[in-house]
Amino acid sequence: MVTEQGTIVADHVVNAAGGFAPQIGAMVGVQVPIVNMIHQYLVTEDLDVVKSLEREIPVVRDPRASCYYRQERQGLIVGPYETGGAQPWALDGIDWSFDAELLPPDIDRLLPWLEAATKRVPAFESAGIKRVVSGPITHTPDGGFLIGPVEGLENFWLCCGAGIGITQGPGAGKYLAQWMTHGQTEINVREMECRRFGSWSIGDYSVSKAVDEYHQMYQVHYPGEYREAGRPVRTTPIYEKLASRGAVFAETFGWERPKWFAPPGVEESYGHRRMNCFDTVGEECKAVRERVGVIDVSAFSKFDVSGPDAEVFLDRILANRVPRRGRVTLAHALTELGGIESEFTVSRLDEQRFYLLSAAVARIHDHDWLVQHRHEAERVDVKDVTEDYAALLVTGPSSRELLSKLTDADLNSTAFPWLSAREIEVAGVPVRALRVSYVGELGWELHHAMRHMNELYEALMTVGKDFGVVDFGLYAMDALRMEKGYRAWGSELTTELTPIEAGLERFVDFNSPFMGKEAVLKRSRESKESRLVYLSVEAIDADAHGNEPVYADGRLVGLTTSGAFGYVVGRSIAFAFVEPAYAELGAELEISILGNRCAAQVIADPLYDARNQRLRA
Ligand SMILES: Cc1cc2nc3c(=O)[nH]c(=O)nc-3n(C[C@H](O)[C@H](O)[C@H](O)COP(=O)(O)OP(=O)(O)OC[C@H]3O[C@@H](n4cnc5c(N)ncnc54)[C@H](O)[C@@H]3O)c2cc1C
Repeated sequence: MVTEQGTIVADHVVNAAGGFAPQIGAMVGVQVPIVNMIHQYLVTEDLDVVKSLEREIPVVRDPRASCYYRQERQGLIVGPYETGGAQPWALDGIDWSFDAELLPPDIDRLLPWLEAATKRVPAFESAGIKRVVSGPITHTPDGGFLIGPVEGLENFWLCCGAGIGITQGPGAGKYLAQWMTHGQTEINVREMECRRFGSWSIGDYSVSKAVDEYHQMYQVHYPGEYREAGRPVRTTPIYEKLASRGAVFAETFGWERPKWFAPPGVEESYGHRRMNCFDTVGEECKAVRERVGVIDVSAFSKFDVSGPDAEVFLDRILANRVPRRGRVTLAHALTELGGIESEFTVSRLDEQRFYLLSAAVARIHDHDWLVQHRHEAERVDVKDVTEDYAALLVTGPSSRELLSKLTDADLNSTAFPWLSAREIEVAGVPVRALRVSYVGELGWELHHAMRHMNELYEALMTVGKDFGVVDFGLYAMDALRMEKGYRAWGSELTTELTPIEAGLERFVDFNSPFMGKEAVLKRSRESKESRLVYLSVEAIDADAHGNEPVYADGRLVGLTTSGAFGYVVGRSIAFAFVEPAYAELGAELEISILGNRCAAQVIADPLYDARNQRLRA
C-alpha cells in the first residue's frame, strides 16, 4: 500500500475510513454504497429537574417525536432524526482536509421535532441551549453496517457504514477480526455482510435509500415492510404484468419479487401479527398444493462453472458429490470450520459444465466464494450468468399436464425424473428445465433467455386457465417450504451450523474429501453445538418470524431462525437453533412471540409429504 507517509506492506487491508470509505474504495476499484447524512443534536444548559435526580436518566428513544434524549452532565441532549427534509452531504466526495469536523448548525430545520420533544420532556421547552452539534453520519441503503471481504480482492475488507457506530463499532470490530483470523464469525453476521449490495446500489438508489433510512430511523418497522424509496431498481420483463395482477413486491438484492397477489382494491397492511394478506396467501398455497402455480424466480443467483477440472473443483469445495450428467443435486460449501457458507442447486449440463443456482441475495458472496477457492492450476471457468436467464417455477400436481400442452418433450417420470435437467422447448421458447421445486410439489423450473419471458409467462397463464393456474408469491413459497421442512440459506443455513447440526446429513458425502470435512466430523463427535429443530407451535395470532427466544425449563435455550403458518398442514411451524439437550423429538419448548409464551414441540420433519411422493409423481 502506497501512502503519503510511505509504503506499507500488509497481509490484510481494512477500509474503515468512515465517510471517506467510498473514496478509499475507489482507489482499488471498489464501489462502497455509503451516503453521509447530516445529523444534529442540541445540548441544554443545566436543568433543575435533572439536578434533582438521584440517578442518571437512561437514554430514551422516542418514536413519536423521532428524537433521542440523553443526560449530559446536569442538562440534556436532544437529538432529532427528522422524518422529512433530511440532507445528504458531500455526495461528490469529502475534501481530504475534513477530519471529524463539525458542520454549521441549522436549528430551524429541526423545529417540528423539537416542538414534539417538548411534549415528551416538558423541561426542555424552557431550557437554554448551550450547544448545537452538527455532523455527517454514514448511512447505507438498509441502515446496516458493511463488514466482510470485498469481492474480487484477496484480503481486502470493509468495516464501515455505521449509522450508530459508537454503539455498534466494538461488535463490528470483534466479528471482523474473527472473520479475518478464522475465515468465519462465531455468530451469523449476514445482515452486516458487505456483499449484500452490488453495483446496482450505487448512485441515486443509495442516496434515496439513505435519506429514507434517516427519516425512518426512529419509526417502528414491521416484518415484510419494503419501503418505496429508490425502487424499482431491477425488474424482470414480466414485472408490469405481475403488478397488474395484484403483485405486492419485495426487494431482494435490488430485484422486485412478488410477495403475494392482492385482490383488487386491497392495500397491504403491516403489523407484527398476521396481516391482511393471510387468507389470500393461504389460497395461493392451497392452489399450488391442489392444482398448479407459477412464480417468477429469476432473482436466483446463477453460475456457469465449466472446464476440464470443473468436477474436481466442485467436489473439493462442496460437501455433496456432483451429479451425473443431466441430474440435479443439492450441495453445500462449508468453511474450514465446518459451517455452512453457501447452498447450491447443482445441475450437470455435460461432462465439463455445471449450472449452479443459489439464493438471490448471495450472488456476489457465492460468486466470490467459487472464484476465491479455485486453485491456480485448476482449469475452471466461473461465470455469473444471473442476468442472462429468467426463471419461472411451474409447480403443483397439474404442472405436468399444463406443460405437456406447451411442449413435445416427454415429461413423465421415466423420461424426466425428479432431480433431472433437460434442454427442451416450452411454447416455442428454448428452456433449461430443472425438475425441482422448493415448495415440495411436482414441478419444473424453466430457465430461459430474459427476452422470452413475457411470451413464456403468457403461454403458461393462458393454457393454465384450464388447470386453475394461480400466481403465487414469496409468502406462499415460504409457508410451503416450511411445511416441507426445507431450510433457507441465511436463516437456517449459516456458518454457525455444520450440515449435520442442520439436519442435512443426506446431502453430505463423507466418502469424498471436501473442504471442512474434518471439522464437521470433529464437531459431530463433540456434539456440543446447537441443533436445528423443526417445531410445531401453538401460535395465537402471530407466527414466528425468526430471532424469537426459545425457552425450556424456565431458561433460554435457543432462538428461532424462521417461522410461518402452514396453511395446508393447518398449523404454525418454526425452525430454531437449540441446545442439543432440547433437540430430541417430542421435546416441549416455549417460544416467546410478541410477549406470549407459545408452547412448541420438536417434531419430525417434514410435516408435508415426508416420502417425497409428490415430488416424484
Ligand atoms: C452529531 C453526531 C452524533 C452522533 N451520535 C452518536 C451516538 O449517540 N451513538 C452512536 O453510536 N453513534 C453516533 N454517531 C455516529 C458515529 O459517530 C459514527 O457512526 C461512527 O463514528 C462511525 O465510525 P467509523 O469508525 O466507521 O468512522 P469514523 O469515526 O468517521 O472514523 C473513520 C476514521 O478514518 C480516518 N480516515 C479516513 N480516511 C483516511 C485515510 N485516507 N487515511 C487515514 N485515515 C483516514 C478518519 O480520519 C477517521 O478518523 C454520531 C455522529 C454524529 C455526527
